Amino acid sequence: MAQLILDKNYFIETFKQLALMAEENRDHLSKLDSDIGDGDHGINLTIGFREVSKQLPTLEQSTADIAELMKKVGMILLSKVGGASGPLYGSFFMKMATHIANKQQVTFKEFCQMYQDGVEAVQLRGKAELDDKTMIDALLPGLEVLKQYQEGDDPVQTLANCVAEMKKGSDHTIPLIAKKGRSMRLGERAIGHRDAGSESSWMIMDVFLQQLKKLPN
Ligand SMILES: [Mg+2]
Repeated sequence: MAQLILDKNYFIETFKQLALMAEENRDHLSKLDSDIGDGDHGINLTIGFREVSKQLPTLEQSTADIAELMKKVGMILLSKVGGASGPLYGSFFMKMATHIANKQQVTFKEFCQMYQDGVEAVQLRGKAELDDKTMIDALLPGLEVLKQYQEGDDPVQTLANCVAEMKKGSDHTIPLIAKKGRSMRLGERAIGHRDAGSESSWMIMDVFLQQLKKLPN
């Protein structure tokens, strides 16, 4: 099997689709957030990715490489998305650029590293651990899958496994008491509700997966 290459266009197309995904799931994500938070998660993500989508034609021209694109997108989310998720997803995308300076294209192995750098940035910023009932509960199980990836493995299958583990991680937040964020003060009343950030996390990576499936390999 030929090496799968992710070019700048792959990321641009993914960001376009992310805007549509956020729009389609706006009410669902806000509903989850309203159960145990302030109910703005879906709206925040929609505003953020809509702005990214609006600026994409300019970014496509003005960014020299994938690293620059990821940094710019992260900065837009950081400045446009309110709540806790803006800084977290902003950091996630910005720090994806850490190990890919000047790259016009990345291998799937490098993409796995991008995800790792993004997740580590979220952890650093949010200070959440596993089982705190946050997006980390989805992001970390996904990372475990991508860390196992080796040259020769099927990238689509690997990312599909990653998203599947993320979904399970999100399911796992339902019975938990929150140890971070707004839902913390609810104590046991948070039990029985899914963390909204864990849901949007796997949904975002699922968009990366759906775009990966469209690439020739
Ligand atoms: Mg909120």
